[in-house]
Amino acid sequence: MLSHAARQGYLLRPRCRGCGREALFVARDLMVMYVTDRRIDSVRFHCQQCDGRDHEIRLVHPDELFEREYVVWRPAIVKGKQKA
Ligand SMILES: [Zn+2]
Repeated sequence: MLSHAARQGYLLRPRCRGCGREALFVARDLMVMYVTDRRIDSVRFHCQQCDGRDHEIRLVHPDELFEREYVVWRPAIVKGKQKA
């Protein structure tokens, strides 16, 4: 579950099935955005490269990352136009 991954400090690494692009997200960030808990495989991502929405999601712990530096993407909540 997402809340469990967040508590353990995990990152989510979705890999786009369309183009193979990978990205890293901090589970805690996603938990904050979704508010309610959900299964990891029900978290939806949107590929910036090919517009694909079909992703294979893996959990990785920061200790397992071999990169000395890595980029994480942070979700942002953008409010649409308010109706007057
Ligand atoms: Zn893609």
